Amino acid sequence: MFDLTDKVALVTGARRGMGKAHALALAEQGAKVVITDIDAGECQSVADEIKSGKGEAVCFKLDVSNKEEVDKVFDEVIKKFGRLDILVNNAGIFNPKAFLEITENEWDKTLDINLKGQFLCAQRAAKEMAKNNPPAGGGRIINISSIASGQVGIGIEWGAHYTASKGGIIGMTETLAIELAPLGINVNAIAPGAIDTPMLRAGAETEELKKYIEKIPLKRIGRPEEVSAAVVFLASDEASYITGSTFYVDGGWLAA
Ligand code: NDP
Repeated sequence: MFDLTDKVALVTGARRGMGKAHALALAEQGAKVVITDIDAGECQSVADEIKSGKGEAVCFKLDVSNKEEVDKVFDEVIKKFGRLDILVNNAGIFNPKAFLEITENEWDKTLDINLKGQFLCAQRAAKEMAKNNPPAGGGRIINISSIASGQVGIGIEWGAHYTASKGGIIGMTETLAIELAPLGINVNAIAPGAIDTPMLRAGAETEELKKYIEKIPLKRIGRPEEVSAAVVFLASDEASYITGSTFYVDGGWLAA
């Protein structure tokens, strides 16, 4: 089960944190992985780790908010592998700021990276996936949202721009699931809770993390690999009848 042999997967924001874990997990299941991040230097070490385990990986600098760069990288991927099967729209930023102090530039930057970046990558990916196994096409798009997306009663202080972007992702995912179904492309979102990554550590002090943990039934924050398990499942043939859904990987936070 969950065999991804010969599938080509592209992960954004994959030099560290959850993106790195997703890249390693997809490679573990046999996928050829394209590791991309705004910082290409550290991407290479992720690619090297995959190659040292006899997997196949390449790495590209990609700022997801820049359409020209998106097109250039996808062109390179198609040149190298001839196809794309899986996109993990993972790149994101969270720069906490009180609502009354968020500048227009800060708002735009968050929305450009977190939401427009997913639109740009999903649109180009869908155009490539539509060419797979003609006439039906085929592929998987997995959009990383957050439990802080406004849909489910978890807001976060100092995160108006972030929650707006993450809520937009869920809406976009549902629409893409409908529009891309005829092309054989399944589109789902994953909404993690508090996961132990550099982003979480930078955005929350130890005391704040303790408060999160109090609210989480499993009484701990999650590990990146625990989200990667959902990514691998949604990328696999076993998830063939799932599209337009949002999966919450949150240690029970929403249920509490
Ligand atoms: P990290 O900050 O650890 O990793 C995100 C990566 O994306 C970084 O390498 C970052 O680089 C990169 N990045 C930033 N801007 C761009 C860009 N324009 N183009 C390409 N890459 C970029 O974050 P996480 O691993 O924690 O988060 C991964 C995803 O999961 C994000 O979408 C986040 O919003 C979401 N998420 C995280 C949660 C958590 O608790 N950690 C909870 C819920 C959702 P740089 O360092 O330069 O910014």
